[in-house]
Amino acid sequence: MLLPHQPLQTAAVVPSQRVPSREEAGPWHSEAVCRRDEAGLFFAPSKEPTAARLAREEAAKRVCARCPVMIECREHALLQPEPYGVWGGLTAAERRVVLARRRRRDAELQRTAAVPAAG
Ligand code: SF4
Repeated sequence: MLLPHQPLQTAAVVPSQRVPSREEAGPWHSEAVCRRDEAGLFFAPSKEPTAARLAREEAAKRVCARCPVMIECREHALLQPEPYGVWGGLTAAERRVVLARRRRRDAELQRTAAVPAAG
């Protein structure tokens, strides 16, 4: 299954990605404001200069900002995880930061839970 702005070539080069089940994907993508033909806005072409990438990502984020399913899209991209492109208003690098924070938080919660109660 291809999601709203996911280009065909992205799906082809990431064959190991798990295809989300109907429940995981949910109906959110039917309400997406991005379209398949906008993939060039959300995914970097090869050898894209930094200034062009930053401008393209900001334009993609402006589309995401008016999308009614931004949160669902973002969680989808974090859970897969989607390795490329802007999803849910976050770039791939920004999603890696969010995932790293979640891993640290989860590790901290596990450490806290493992400490026996005093008394
Ligand atoms: S949040 Fe952005 S990438 Fe996700 S469906 Fe909406 S417009 Fe598309």
